[in-house]
Amino acid sequence: MDTHVLVVGAGPTGLMLANQLGRRGVRAMIIDRHAGPSLQTRAIGVQARTMEIYSKLGLVDRALELGKDGSGANLWAEGRWMARVLLGEAGRDLTPFPFVLILGQDDNERIMGDKLRDWGLSVQWNTELVALDQQPGHVTATLEQPDGTTRKITAAWVAGCDGARSAVRDLTGIMFPGAPYEHVFFVADTVVTGKMVPDQINIYLWRNGFHLFFPFRGEDHWRIVGILPPALRDRKDVTFEDVIPSVRREAGELNFTACSWFSTYRIHHRSASRFRDRRCFLLGDAAHIHSPVGAQGMNTGLQDAYNLAWKLALVTEGRADAALLDSYEEERMPVARRLLNTTDRVFRLLVSHNPLAGMLRTKILARIAEFALRRAAIQRAAFRVVSQTGIRYRESPLSKTLEGFPGGAPRAGDRFPWLRLKLQTNGPVEDLYQKLDDKRFNLVVVGQPSPSGDALDLDDLLDIHVIPADPANQAELARARIPQPSFYLVRPDGHVGLCGVRLDAGAVARYVSESLRLEPRSAPRSPNRERAPVMAS
Ligand SMILES: Cc1cc2nc3c(=O)[nH]c(=O)nc-3n(C[C@H](O)[C@H](O)[C@H](O)COP(=O)(O)OP(=O)(O)OC[C@H]3O[C@@H](n4cnc5c(N)ncnc54)[C@H](O)[C@@H]3O)c2cc1C
Repeated sequence: MDTHVLVVGAGPTGLMLANQLGRRGVRAMIIDRHAGPSLQTRAIGVQARTMEIYSKLGLVDRALELGKDGSGANLWAEGRWMARVLLGEAGRDLTPFPFVLILGQDDNERIMGDKLRDWGLSVQWNTELVALDQQPGHVTATLEQPDGTTRKITAAWVAGCDGARSAVRDLTGIMFPGAPYEHVFFVADTVVTGKMVPDQINIYLWRNGFHLFFPFRGEDHWRIVGILPPALRDRKDVTFEDVIPSVRREAGELNFTACSWFSTYRIHHRSASRFRDRRCFLLGDAAHIHSPVGAQGMNTGLQDAYNLAWKLALVTEGRADAALLDSYEEERMPVARRLLNTTDRVFRLLVSHNPLAGMLRTKILARIAEFALRRAAIQRAAFRVVSQTGIRYRESPLSKTLEGFPGGAPRAGDRFPWLRLKLQTNGPVEDLYQKLDDKRFNLVVVGQPSPSGDALDLDDLLDIHVIPADPANQAELARARIPQPSFYLVRPDGHVGLCGVRLDAGAVARYVSESLRLEPRSAPRSPNRERAPVMAS
């Protein structure tokens, strides 16, 4: 076997997957048909959940240094400032990163691409997947190389991170139903002065559409996104100068001094009919595409990769049955479908030609948004959705909440909440999230003694965190609605796998063998096992 996992595509999704596999010791190969990294900013919103994942990967400081906090959003209607929406406050207790980071996709790709070196990996550019042949134990992939010749390689698994026109999707015959929107978008990276509220997102709503201004790092540097005026829609040679009059009409006096990138693009809303065909997976834009409303696209692909990586690591290591991989589609497809529906509804409202929708957009929407988002509960709910910290897999076969667990508490499938606790009696308050090793399972034990790791059948894959009894801890646990006593078995990707009131070694053992499909410690390892345990730190 040439490699355990062939990652096709070195966009954000493929780079995240290759990093996650590399740091878990999986032999991975990453290829891209382009000659080198993309220089286009494209996606620019990095959500809290992505920053959490970046922090585990050792990238968050670099991302924060390069990006800009863009949490505040100002709504303008027909040239008048209407309202300001501040979502960051609502996320203060939910994540260490309660804001949207404005950081171009090119920078995201660069920092993830640089990180590959830590695991001895690098992208093989100018290398295109052109054919796939799936066998029971491996896949043969045909790659076209820079000199135009082809070569065949074998891989145990193939990850199609190859974007909206995915070759992996086409070669596996997976359908991609959906449709294009009639509107054409434009995007421009500009240097401009005007009435925009500095350092915050400015949303200009008008009768036939919208313009978004995102603050970039650097003086007067703004990314503008909007829909092309209908008169320009069918022209192939539209330039930024052509759209300036319509931007000025809505956003008022603007003084442009530079435009470093301008592009137009048509958006589709589509979701693959399956995210897996035998040994091939689809992730990111290869699996789902939707309108850029809410800056979710790139972030969703990164989370697809985080979901699949730990499962692939356990399976390639021979620690888990390949059936564990079924949960990738079971968990990520509903997330993609929900996202598609939500972004579709919001997008249609934002661009509808219906006069009523136009009036709603310019006269009512901003007021409703401001009024609703002054309410703490609505703010928190909105923050959870936009930041992707609210994504959960409660219906997954990997999620087991034991009987008698109180309603209202975080439960199996949820992202384990962010907690600051005293982890040593009389010690300082620490960030528990930073202590959870995302290359292992983590057992968080509250209000009861812990059995030894030996009794739990997870071998070297488990870290145990017993939370000491302490008034400060009790207050923090109550805030997060964590029952006392309780226990949470947290998966490597930070979602709760199993939870219950009293820690029951038998229930943990059953969960490990029946849900996670991990091989018992005593069983012989897979014969093609080639390296040290992947999850060991
Ligand atoms: C103009 C524009 C603006 C956007 N703005 C936003 C935004 O504001 N917010 C947002 O969330 N999203 C935005 N998006 C969407 C965002 O860019 C995508 O969601 C994101 O790029 C998806 O990442 P990916 O890695 O899944 O796919 P891609 O970034 O498309 O990467 C796929 C990679 O696969 C490679 N590849 C393809 N076929 C093969 C093959 N056969 N062999 C080898 N390599 C192959 C390609 O060369 C490419 O590098 C925008 C997109 C565009 C085009």
